[in-house]
Order: sequence, then structure tokens, then C-alpha cells
Amino acid sequence: MKKGLSIIGFLIACAGFVYSGLNIYGSTSKIAQSSSLKGNIKKLNKEKETKQKQLTEIAKKEEVVKGKYEQMKKEGKIKIVHLTFDDGPSNNTDKILEILKRNNVKATFFVIGHNQDQYKKILDAGHAIGLHSYTHDYKYVYANEHNFFEDLYRLHDAVKAKTGKDIRITRFPGGSSNAIASKALKQQIITRMAREGYIYHDWNCDSTDASGNGVPVPKLIKYGICTNHPEIDVLMHDTNAKGTTVQALQTIIDGYKKAGYSFEVITTSSEKIQHVKQPEIKH
Ligand SMILES: [Zn+2]
Repeated sequence: MKKGLSIIGFLIACAGFVYSGLNIYGSTSKIAQSSSLKGNIKKLNKEKETKQKQLTEIAKKEEVVKGKYEQMKKEGKIKIVHLTFDDGPSNNTDKILEILKRNNVKATFFVIGHNQDQYKKILDAGHAIGLHSYTHDYKYVYANEHNFFEDLYRLHDAVKAKTGKDIRITRFPGGSSNAIASKALKQQIITRMAREGYIYHDWNCDSTDASGNGVPVPKLIKYGICTNHPEIDVLMHDTNAKGTTVQALQTIIDGYKKAGYSFEVITTSSEKIQHVKQPEIKH
């Protein structure tokens, strides 16, 4: 009996030993796991810190480069031309895109609400799209503020649906100095645009291709090359009727290249060439 008891006692002791052994093993492996996790977290945190430092350094350098660039622009050492084409897309868009591609230069297309399937092609070629007007119907868009913005939003949404881009660059039909809208209406539109983050761009070089159809090429070249300012926005048109603009384009590009201009698209940070000034945007 006594022997039987001691065997049971022995077995209980063994079981206890195995149990506590397993327990110890379990907790040490947990400790080991957690310490290796802690090590990993530390390592990751360090990597994060290093990356953040590098990012800050890059941002600082970028600021310096940007500052130098702006300074050089101010001093007239960098000259920029924005070629702009209004009222497209049209049957001439492909020809214009081909000439731009051949010259490796980029332009900005202030589109209207037709031939929408061509929007994406313009962007895919590296050019910019600006919002001109959906209807381009002066009587309608300049009847009142409501009509103007209804027309603008309609075009904004059409471009977004076709390209996925939320475009904020615009150009007034007829420019911000047009004589169709009253001064009061224009001020209302300008204020609301500023509030909603739309930036409009006019031009300081008019190729004169809007003065009629088939304006002679020499005239377009004469007026389309303006080298009197370090930042030029050239007004041209992309419509079926403006064939001579296509014919003049190569010489106009050559003129700017010869004068040392670089060709850029209009972005939200481009200098604003505006006939009627827009107040700074405050959000
Ligand atoms: Zn127009």
C-alpha cells in the first residue's frame, strides 16, 4: 500500500515537474519572441527616423533649388513660354500634337465641351488641360454668375469623367478682360473662383488667330513670337477653322527656341498672366 502510494506520489511529482517544465519553456519562448519583436520594432523605428531625416533633407534641398529657380526667373535668366490652344479639341488637334511631339515641347489646351474623347490623348502626350467653357456661348455664360459656374462645373465634370483629373486651371471665354461680362459680374466670378480654388490664366502674347479664319501665316508668326518678357503665354486656337495656326506653329516654336525659352505647361504654381488680377486664394 505504502509502495503504491509512493509510486502515485512519484507519478504526481513527475507530472508536476513536466508541467512546470512546459510552463517555463512556454514563458521563456514567449519572452524570447517578445524581445525579438521589441528588437524589430526598435530597428523599424530607427529606419523610420533615418528615412524621415532624409526626407527633410530632400525637402530642404528642393526648397533651395526652387528658390534659385525663382530668382533666376526674376533676373530673366530663365525664360518660359506657355503655348496655349483654346476651343479644342478639333480635327486639328492630332496635327498640333504631332508638331509638339516632333519638337519635344509641351503645351496647354483650354478645352471646351465637345470632342471629349480627345481629352485623354492630350494628357497622355504630357500636355496640360485647362477648363475654358463647356458651351463657349458668351450670351449664356455671361448672363449671370449661376450660368457661368454651371457651365464651368459641367466642363470640369466632363474632363474628370474622361480623364480622372480634377482640373483647376481655367481661362475665361474671351479672357478675363472681355467686354461681354459686366465689371460687377466679373468680380463676382473672380471672387468665387478664388474661394473654390480655380485659377484663371489669360495671355500676354496674342497670335491674332482669333481675329478671323485663315489669318495669314506670316502675321501669326509675327504676333505669335513675343520675346519681350521672361514668361510668355501665347494665345492660339485649336479649331477646324484655324488651319493656318497649324501651319505657323513650327516657326513659332523655332522662334522661342532660338530666343532661349523653355516650354512648360501651365500648372497651379505657374506665374499668373491675368488681365484682371485675381486675389490670392485663401482657404
Ligand atoms: Zn475661346
